[in-house]
Amino acid sequence: MKQQAMTQQDIKQHNLTGEAGSKDLVHQDAFAPWRALLLQQLADKALFEQARKAAYAYLDEQTSRRVSPDAAALEALSQFDEPMPSGPAPAEALIDQLHAIGSPATIAQATSGRYFGLVNGGVLPVALAARWLADAWDQNAALYLSSPIASKLEQLCQDWLCQLMELPQGSVAGFVSGSSTAILCGLAAGRYRLLERLGWDINRQGLAGAPRLRLIAGQHAHATVLKAVALLGLGTDNIEWVPVDEQGRIRADQLPKLDATCLLMLQAGNVNSGAFDDFATIMPKARAAGAWVHIDGAFGLWAKASSPLRALCDGIEQAQSFSLDGHKTLNTPYDNGIVLCSDANALRAAFAASGSYILYSQERDGMAFTPEMSRRARAVELWAALKFLGRSGLDDLVTGLHQRALQLEQGLRAAGFEICNQVAFNQVLVGLANDDDIPALIAALQADGRIWVGGGTWFQRPVVRVSVCSWATSPQIIEETRAAFIRAREGLTQQT
Ligand SMILES: *Cc1c(COP(=O)(O)O)cnc(C)c1O
Repeated sequence: MKQQAMTQQDIKQHNLTGEAGSKDLVHQDAFAPWRALLLQQLADKALFEQARKAAYAYLDEQTSRRVSPDAAALEALSQFDEPMPSGPAPAEALIDQLHAIGSPATIAQATSGRYFGLVNGGVLPVALAARWLADAWDQNAALYLSSPIASKLEQLCQDWLCQLMELPQGSVAGFVSGSSTAILCGLAAGRYRLLERLGWDINRQGLAGAPRLRLIAGQHAHATVLKAVALLGLGTDNIEWVPVDEQGRIRADQLPKLDATCLLMLQAGNVNSGAFDDFATIMPKARAAGAWVHIDGAFGLWAKASSPLRALCDGIEQAQSFSLDGHKTLNTPYDNGIVLCSDANALRAAFAASGSYILYSQERDGMAFTPEMSRRARAVELWAALKFLGRSGLDDLVTGLHQRALQLEQGLRAAGFEICNQVAFNQVLVGLANDDDIPALIAALQADGRIWVGGGTWFQRPVVRVSVCSWATSPQIIEETRAAFIRAREGLTQQT
């Protein structure tokens, strides 16, 4: 066998002349030339250096380029189109292609501080760096035995987050891809526990014939809450909808009478207005009734870390399950969601799995708390972000987002824009006197390229949605954003 690294051409040759027809599989090594190439790639690090350089060039451009790709960059994406290649491609060339065609077709949100769409958040350099290292580790966080370090960092993140949220002793965390999954986890735990108390084992007996659970949510519950309800077989038609107030908060005085069959879904951070439900009023009632409360706090629960905002979360500690994201307010890289649960056994029971080869340990086995078995060690970047910031840094980060949102609110109000929500946290909803002008205003802002905002509907009115959630959004950037709004509005009046 050839020991030296082969070129892609050699591999092609090998494939063509290989002994594919022979039956002596034991003495063949189809992958030998590939293995030599891979070992070569690993030894000389050229690919990694290439990717590193591209990543640095990319990050350096974050502040100078458009936030959204231009038409040429989108057009160029067609260069990726091809049938599944029949043979190998040179690794260097494909990394080049990714950078040359892929990088310009990204949304510049990682560190630009100028992207205000959805609720996205940027990325803390230390969290990105920690993830790079963890990527090299390529750990499977399923079990302690499959990754002691992942188990350790999950344990720490669990402890820190439960302390931060002031949850009862024994509360646990599961580390998942995002809030969508975390909500599913929280509701699955609640479904398990409520039915178990009614003498029904959902895992064995299933939903058919099960005692009926009551589902209660505010009219502004997030789409992913409804998705979780649907996935769990509970049926969105069965939700008892509770009216909301003018900020999108569930009306505590309109809650139906709660009982021990209720799954109540509350919200810390309305995805449009950023408003928080009145936990302090609702939680004692829910607790007395024996209901299970899940709090969807994808971005908002982090308010608990901010000294001026903490009171918004008063009462949350009495809920049973919580969902939040590292990849939004905390600014970790993507794929970082967390479910917290004060009923550890319910969460474990909801995701119980066993098999002769699944070797649980005395240590933390991450898969016991999540739907997945094999998972990325995503607690690594979560730990890095939390450790880097500490409580005071986290306070500064979260408080800072609120301050920038207030700055934008004030600046836009002074310039004659209408602000349609109370800026409770990091969300600013901007309106115009004439609703019909909103689509053109958004289009002009997006075309401008220096910032990016999306649109939404707030109580039937079209609005511009601004979500301030990146550490990189400075007072200067907010000022530029205000200027962009004014420019865009001027464009409208010139057209009419
Ligand atoms: C973003 C968001 C979700 C969904 O979270 P993902 O991490 O995107 O899955 C759920 N609820 C609220 C309030 C959100 O802002």
